[in-house]
Amino acid sequence: MSLFYNTSVQYLKGVGPKLGQMLERRGVATAGDLLEHYPRSYEDRRSARNIAGLRADELVSLVATIMRVSSVPMGKSYRKIYEVVVSDGSGKLACKYFRVPYKGYFERFQPNMKVRVSGRVTEYRGKVQMQHPDIHFYDEAEEDGDKILPIYSEIDGIKDGKIRSLIGQVIDKLIDNPAPLSDVDIKIGKSKGVPDAFPQWLIKKYDLMNRGEALRSLHLPEQGESLQYIDYKTKAHERIIFEEFFWLELHLARKKKGIQREKAISLNKPSPLVNKIKSELPFILTGAQERTLTDIFTDLKKSHPMHRLVQGDVGSGKTLVGLLACVHAIENGYQSAFMAPTEILAEQHYKTACKLLNPLGIKVSLLIGSLKEKHKKEIYENLTSGETHLCIGTHALIQDRVEFKNLSLAIVDEQHRFGVDQRSKLKRKAISPHFLVMTATPIPRSLAMTVYGDLDVSIMDEKPAGRTPIVTRKAFESKRDKVMGFLADQINKGRQGYIVYPLVEESEKIELKNAMDEFEKLKKMFPKFKFGLLHGRMKSDEKDAVMREFRDGKTDILVATTVIEVGVDVPNANIMIIEHSERFGLSQLHQLRGRVGRGEHKSYCVLMLGYAMSDVSKLRAEIMESTEDGFKISEKDLEIRGPGEFLGRKQSGLPGFKIANLIRDQKVLQASKEAAFELIDRDPELKSDEHAEILNILQRNTEFTVG
Ligand code: ADP
Ligand code: MG
Repeated sequence: MSLFYNTSVQYLKGVGPKLGQMLERRGVATAGDLLEHYPRSYEDRRSARNIAGLRADELVSLVATIMRVSSVPMGKSYRKIYEVVVSDGSGKLACKYFRVPYKGYFERFQPNMKVRVSGRVTEYRGKVQMQHPDIHFYDEAEEDGDKILPIYSEIDGIKDGKIRSLIGQVIDKLIDNPAPLSDVDIKIGKSKGVPDAFPQWLIKKYDLMNRGEALRSLHLPEQGESLQYIDYKTKAHERIIFEEFFWLELHLARKKKGIQREKAISLNKPSPLVNKIKSELPFILTGAQERTLTDIFTDLKKSHPMHRLVQGDVGSGKTLVGLLACVHAIENGYQSAFMAPTEILAEQHYKTACKLLNPLGIKVSLLIGSLKEKHKKEIYENLTSGETHLCIGTHALIQDRVEFKNLSLAIVDEQHRFGVDQRSKLKRKAISPHFLVMTATPIPRSLAMTVYGDLDVSIMDEKPAGRTPIVTRKAFESKRDKVMGFLADQINKGRQGYIVYPLVEESEKIELKNAMDEFEKLKKMFPKFKFGLLHGRMKSDEKDAVMREFRDGKTDILVATTVIEVGVDVPNANIMIIEHSERFGLSQLHQLRGRVGRGEHKSYCVLMLGYAMSDVSKLRAEIMESTEDGFKISEKDLEIRGPGEFLGRKQSGLPGFKIANLIRDQKVLQASKEAAFELIDRDPELKSDEHAEILNILQRNTEFTVG
């Protein structure tokens, strides 16, 4: 019988109805599905070694015996670290997992089982270990020596060997000896061998392997390329990984093309005021600020709307960049809007804006919920008449009653604090305004490209000159008195400080109790100091009142839950103590720490650790001690948590990749993105014959719902 890509697995030799149904239930219904059941790893039998001889950074595979399998909770979260300890007589090796490779992975292992462990050796605190190695049962029969072997995820208990042989059969009949096509076959649209949707120009330009060849090589590894296989770096891997990214990128490219078809006001007059402001600042802009402004001005001059994300680390000076963009729009004769997530932040921006812009005759207004009705009305009128050039505000800005005369630029600060709805409501205050979103929660470039693929991204990874580094140290309970004494010293010198408590999600009541109890204790401990208390249960005007007092120096120490995370700029505050820091994620710790180190005084951040902390929380604390670079921190965070967790499962909307990995395969992702965007440039509607199959696949797959 001839075999086609979409022939049911039932027709394969060795597949009865029962096995056929089992495979189908797990999504392996056709010969093609089997080929797309990629090996989850490879094993290099030739680099077999013993544990005592391991060196960091080597890729190895060795036979050992399981000693124990254990798990420890990671901080207070529901997640755990798993540890499998194995021994081979020469030594012991700890295998650590920060996530479960697949369901049931650890349950399979029992003490004394003989297994094969394959992966990269890492070093932690002077000892070798492995993180996320591949462990599977040692099978005497398969140990045929000199080989690199593909390892498959189990399908409902079907053994590796069986899967391997079925795939071998498909490769033989479909790729090596494809059946000639009959007239009927051609009529019903069958294609010989493995179909390939990519047009020739794309395959040539991006130097890709042909699809059938690539699939063959994934399953039947070329001997002599074992390291490349284990690292997923062969040409075959490149082709298949490229393809996985491609469908996502193509979706984003089409979305972006849609935006480019919208018409916007081209703000193409020069703006001398921007230069005047720059020349009068007490500092010069950083290179990153200049680059970002160039990006923005280039966008604003176009006749389709800007759609740009500024990813800037905490304290990189995004506000100024946003305000200068507004000035450009205003000099072109149009209004701007600048939305921030809290009143205190909106006020802060308003103050900055007034100081810079009022002397130039630019009229700025502040629109926040807590204003008196009369005052709000006045602002509404000034916006409608065009009297106000720039309106800075909170969610109050997106109320229906707010109407602009001629809004052309909308900016959202700390964009991740707003919902999609809120952002688009601001956008709808004009027909198609230029749109700029800013965030201080950097995510690694690799993810930004996919998650924000329809936005252009400017990166501000440079801090203004003259900032003194923040000294970060972890401390255990036994050092509490010393830490508190240090805090008191700083306050006595006239500085201010933060003490932060974790938000315990399961019970807001406990959180409240913690912060409040501590608040009372601290007041007794330091009767001379003035304390403020800030927590999530307070109304926003209460919070703002407490924040204002702190900003104005009326309180010395702010005891707070994580509500202080966003954007607040109090340069005199130079010390932060984070209690139970093991309960915070890395990016949250980084955001929190960003509240200090904003003035001329040397700053400190103390990470208090409970004794019940896990390896991961210690690792996080050590990462925090080692760097202040938000981009590096986010890379590490991504490494520890994996993309799904990192972005939040629901939020991410990323389709599951079978083989592609956003961290490992960044180069391929970049190329794939270029290719997808180039394709849409060449053939926006995918009308040409050579792109017909791409269009076909795109229309069948509606799972790409990113953004
Ligand atoms: P973020 O990027 O976190 O929003 P801000 O815009 O709040 O940072 O800026 C932090 C501080 O840095 C502000 O006090 C701002 O005036 C100052 N600042 C901005 N740009 C520069 C610069 N180029 N040189 C020195 N200080 C700067
Ligand atoms: Mg900011």
